[in-house]
Amino acid sequence: MGERIPHWLDKQAALNPLRTAIEITDGKTISFSELREESRKMAYALMDNGVEHGDHVAFLASNSTMYAVFIHAVSYIGAVAVLLNTRLVSKEITYQLTDAHVSHFYVDGSHMQVAMDSVKELDLDVHRLEHVEEKKESAHELQADLDLDDVYTMMYTSGTTGNPKAVMHTYGNHWHSAVASALNLGTQEKDKWLNCLPLFHVGGFSILMKSVVYGMPIMLLEKFDARQVHEAIMEKGITHVSVVTVMLQRLLEVLEDGRYPGYFRCMLLGGGPVPEVLLNKTSAKGIPVFQTYGMTETSSQIATLSPEFAFSKLGSAGKALSPAHLYIDCTESGEVGEIIVRGPMVSKGYYNRPEREGEYLRTGDLGFEDEDGFLYVVDRVKDVIISGGENIYPAEVESVLLSLPGVREAGVAGRPDERWGEVPAAYIVTEDGARLTEKEVMDWCRERLAKYKCPKEVHWIDEIPRNASNKLVRRRLSSSSIQGGDE
Ligand code: ATP
Ligand code: MG
Repeated sequence: MGERIPHWLDKQAALNPLRTAIEITDGKTISFSELREESRKMAYALMDNGVEHGDHVAFLASNSTMYAVFIHAVSYIGAVAVLLNTRLVSKEITYQLTDAHVSHFYVDGSHMQVAMDSVKELDLDVHRLEHVEEKKESAHELQADLDLDDVYTMMYTSGTTGNPKAVMHTYGNHWHSAVASALNLGTQEKDKWLNCLPLFHVGGFSILMKSVVYGMPIMLLEKFDARQVHEAIMEKGITHVSVVTVMLQRLLEVLEDGRYPGYFRCMLLGGGPVPEVLLNKTSAKGIPVFQTYGMTETSSQIATLSPEFAFSKLGSAGKALSPAHLYIDCTESGEVGEIIVRGPMVSKGYYNRPEREGEYLRTGDLGFEDEDGFLYVVDRVKDVIISGGENIYPAEVESVLLSLPGVREAGVAGRPDERWGEVPAAYIVTEDGARLTEKEVMDWCRERLAKYKCPKEVHWIDEIPRNASNKLVRRRLSSSSIQGGDE
């Protein structure tokens, strides 16, 4: 048994009963004490349906207050929430339900059909969460304490480099992740964090955890909508937003020549590479962007640029958060090598896969540290293109392509070449109405990149292949060039 702490939602309901826990866009709010009530009622109902401590309970739903209620209900039971991506097709869901040994499956109304399809060949019932009858009390007992070593959630990695793997997170992982972020950014009475990321990913989920660990109101959007997020920042007292690169690009388009209010203090940016041109734009507009580095396995960020260095170390993902270690596997300092991490927010491993040996996690990502120890994430080990013995990092080339006016999205992947082994090929989606030629792209790159890094061919595509997490999947780039779309 690990260290035990009082259930975090009981705690907030006692400390800050009337404070808003969750606000949704139409102005509706739910306080911490109401959230506690709702979650406990749902916990009783789930237990009456047979959910027990330690059971794996899958959940497939869009962001909503009910999602939060479900998450907390699971923690009152001590069951494990297996959070499924709503963009998966039924076959993928079937795989995850089986792989994660799910014994109970709950969905919201809008995902009933795909859920039903996914269990056709499984011995598993689908329950619609809205139809679960709330129970005020029951013969069952709810957990008053959380054991920090108990597994609380399982979330699948995005499957960008291979098959998604189920990452196990304990209460302790989530607790330490929330605390580590607070030690970096500080907490203030007026803080209100907007969540427009899906709750089934660790980036969105971690905002729910911050809310209940800090006693902080959050605003929950069903999904990202640039205009809605913009309005919330401008008019609804939002102080923090977590975004991925594409979202930040869309927000800038809406902001145009405007400025965010002075109380807006943090745009937390993570999940993938960030093109330099974007950071330059945000910095020119005085937007406090904090680049973070993290992965499902680290329960969201493990390194973040601190406020003090937001502008002076633009492009860096900062340093490892207080309770975490991070180092680069390289022979000389400053060199690019694999990023290796350790800390109380790092998952102990994947479910149903061999255990990790040792305390350190090899991330599969490449990075380097500058002379002051600031981390720069370079790319994924698996995506490196080796051309004539030289390493080419696709993210660096993509960043240059994205700085060319008229380029909306860009991906770079290696293609086999007799002479060089591999050469980089560029895949470009242009802005509506933009006309670019291959020569313009080549010239642009030649002025900014060493010759061996310059794409040897350019493919014009309609859409960048992305996975269910909206991440660029480079290994699918070549097929999209032929079909002009997804696989
Ligand atoms: P899979 O592990 O299944 O291939 P995935 O790694 O994309 O999928 P996630 O856990 O959602 O799954 O994403 C974490 C990854 O996102 C990191 O390992 C890293 O490659 C990338 N990433 C996160 N932050 C940054 C950053 N600041 N810069 C560049 N890449 C980043
Ligand atoms: Mg990964």
